Amino acid sequence: MSDASSYNRSRILPDANELVDNILKGDRVALGRAITLIESKRKEHQDIAERVIDACIPHSGNSLRIGITGTPGVGKSTFIEAMGSLLTKDGKKVAVLAIDPSSQISKGSILGDKTRMEQLSRDPLAFIRPSPAGESLGGVARKTRETIILCEAAGYEHVFIETVGVGQSEITVHSMVDLFLLLLIPGAGDELQGIKRGIVEMADIVAVNKSDGERLELAKKSKRAYINALHLFPPKESDWTPKVELCSATDKTGIEEIWTAVGDFQSHVIENGWLQENRKRQAKFWFMETIKDSLFSSFFQNPAIQATFHTMEEQVLESQISPFKAAHDLLKKFLPEG
Ligand code: GDP
Repeated sequence: MSDASSYNRSRILPDANELVDNILKGDRVALGRAITLIESKRKEHQDIAERVIDACIPHSGNSLRIGITGTPGVGKSTFIEAMGSLLTKDGKKVAVLAIDPSSQISKGSILGDKTRMEQLSRDPLAFIRPSPAGESLGGVARKTRETIILCEAAGYEHVFIETVGVGQSEITVHSMVDLFLLLLIPGAGDELQGIKRGIVEMADIVAVNKSDGERLELAKKSKRAYINALHLFPPKESDWTPKVELCSATDKTGIEEIWTAVGDFQSHVIENGWLQENRKRQAKFWFMETIKDSLFSSFFQNPAIQATFHTMEEQVLESQISPFKAAHDLLKKFLPEG
């Protein structure tokens, strides 16, 4: 009977080859299903997802991956909607993904709770996918990277990855995109609006959003202040000088200029080889991160470690054993002899 039941089970599982064929044809339903498999905790789903990703990898890499960050309320979703619509009007396919670890910490998500990007979500050339929920930042990051591969295989030429301006998630997004765009609002340049300097330093383009109405004059001053602030950072490895642009996502002004700056950046990093070099570095980084993550989690799942870890930890805290000796003793239990 086991043959029959495994047959039945395999019948209800999606077929990897069929999914791949449909993804390569640009079928959004297949793309959505495959992403759901990536996000699933079930081993049999993950196995199919892995096969789909493997088959899609040779068809990936052809998009420009754009990270977008800024504090809640700065206008990220309005901006992405305005820019995305500009691109789809031109016949371009746009995917929007999100990295929002807040959905794990607060059980509510900063990015996802409101109705977002209504116009773009109805656009047949756009594909919008919220952040996977209930995951650590590392988990969200891996799933998002795999999702980028599938979106590229499905022919999306521009992949936006949105995150909130709260710290570590920016660094994660930065390590998977080609271009990093920071949204700010008009205001004094030196205070940098609670955004950490390290994040400003990562920006390739700073867009001063809400540069409309009464704020326009202040916005112009802000632009000068941000240009000066950016000059104080060391030159980028990409040899690109960050641009500061004014825009209004609601009035749809300045969006085309920002898109021109994106195009200039893209030509610059293709010509000088940085795009490929950076992607190689990112691939290496994620390769090492995945090894580290997997080793770490199998270490803590190991019964011998689980049996002794807390006692050892107590002894370290009580200074009865050195942290180094304790770590080595635990590793000896974990690693095979030899
Ligand atoms: P997010 O939290 O960063 O995604 O911000 P939203 O896109 O949800 O925008 C927050 C609020 O700012 C909304 O009420 C928008 O209508 C408004 N907003 C966004 N962009 C602009 C803009 O360029 N000008 C003005 N005046 N308001 C804007």
